[in-house]
Amino acid sequence: ILKECFIFPSDIKTNFSSIGGLKKTKVIMNELITLPLKRPELFKTGILKETTTGILLFGPPGTGKTLTARAVASQCGANFLNIQMSNIQSKWVGENEKNVKAIFSLARKLAPCVLFIDEIDALLQTRKGEFTPHYMVNTLNEFMQEWDGLNSQNDGVIVIGATNRPFDLDEAVLRRLPRRIFVSLPDAESRSEILDILLKEETVGYSKEERKEILDYVAGKTNQWSGSDLKNLCIATVMNAIKQQIIDPGKQNEVCRTIEKQHFDMAFESGDI
Ligand code: ATP
Repeated sequence: ILKECFIFPSDIKTNFSSIGGLKKTKVIMNELITLPLKRPELFKTGILKETTTGILLFGPPGTGKTLTARAVASQCGANFLNIQMSNIQSKWVGENEKNVKAIFSLARKLAPCVLFIDEIDALLQTRKGEFTPHYMVNTLNEFMQEWDGLNSQNDGVIVIGATNRPFDLDEAVLRRLPRRIFVSLPDAESRSEILDILLKEETVGYSKEERKEILDYVAGKTNQWSGSDLKNLCIATVMNAIKQQIIDPGKQNEVCRTIEKQHFDMAFESGDI
């Protein structure tokens, strides 16, 4: 199971400058996570002892939930453990509970650590089902027990859950994730920022002004697109520039490519995105 988790040590940097838009989300995440991770002892006494610091990120797919959680961990020098709920499920009896124990125990060893649980709604679906198999009830109970253990010790592990289906979550999980943050689709200004970040190593246009003009043009044409959709668009666009470079005798020997507006248009017109 632990082979299937992604662990990013604190020295691997993904910081807030790798995230376009989501300004408010970044501020809230920073406040909610940085202090409890940097100074866990302040949260071990008084009324705070009883509080849980779990955070739920919810919103459409590909809007940067994982990226934000990873960046905030990295910003405050914490390790980042990324778990997909589907990885926990095993066909062997008793194996699920062991997996859950192993994950929480690893998170404690990696403290300060952000334990990111993607598709957290999957944990609860089994509770809602009429014929919940016995072994799944055990997994769920184990999960809740370990989670409560974390909360009562405040030992430098923060749980962030993510879901695209917040309405599927039941009370047991919601109670443990008292802070809920909506991660929305980006507006035009944020889309332009995301494009700029995704293409930071590429030359776009023949001047700074032209770069901005092209990125704003693309942002204007991508209403309701997520960051992940924009990434696919950028990949297709850069491929268009490369393909053109290969067939153009005047450009064949050039090592650097320049992304032009027409390369984006070709990607839009191809209909593959
Ligand atoms: P899912 O709900 O499908 O798990 P998610 O909300 O966790 O998706 P991410 O996995 O964080 O989304 O985003 C996928 C990719 O899209 C990122 O690796 C990044 O390249 C790009 N991306 C998404 N949102 C942003 C953003 N706001 N700024 C920069 N890049 C972004």
